[in-house]
Amino acid sequence: MGNDEGDTRTRTNQTAAARMRLLTAEHLTPTRGAPTHGRTATMAHSPAPVDLDTVDYLSAARTEAITFTRRHAPDAGPAPADAADVYAWMDEHTQTIQPAAQDQRRTLEIRHALEAHLRIDRDDSRGLIRRHRCPRCHCLGVVWSEPLQRAVCGSGRCVDNKARPSTWSVYQLAEARVADQNRMLRTAT
Ligand SMILES: [Zn+2]
Repeated sequence: MGNDEGDTRTRTNQTAAARMRLLTAEHLTPTRGAPTHGRTATMAHSPAPVDLDTVDYLSAARTEAITFTRRHAPDAGPAPADAADVYAWMDEHTQTIQPAAQDQRRTLEIRHALEAHLRIDRDDSRGLIRRHRCPRCHCLGVVWSEPLQRAVCGSGRCVDNKARPSTWSVYQLAEARVADQNRMLRTAT
């Protein structure tokens, strides 16, 4: 059980870190060329455009992870400067917090990974969202809608209380993934 929990925790924090690194590489590395959307600016000492939306996003994601960590571990000490490094730091300092707070941390990590992914792959052509189960019917048929900025369940029978197709935010997908992982851990023991 301990190992399973450790694996699950490690996976979510490493996944979030990997996605933040990928986002930095794809949107903030000058050799990759100009970003094709969003705000850009030319830095005074560099001809390379900087994707300010991505800079803002990485900063906000880092701040959210630090705020969560400090709320649960006030003695955590200085946080890493790099957004991608903050997840291992958060993990290190929140290993003994209450299970409900651990779930919140894993939800945050999965959500950040999905948000970073969607900044690189706006229509989910690489299919990361599609690997999540629908929180209502548990099918593997959710598809990302860029106009809605929500995942839509593809099952015709899975509807909300107004008979519209079920749609989900990335937060709801992340929360459902953590609940699924917890169910699997419980049945594995
Ligand atoms: Zn569904």
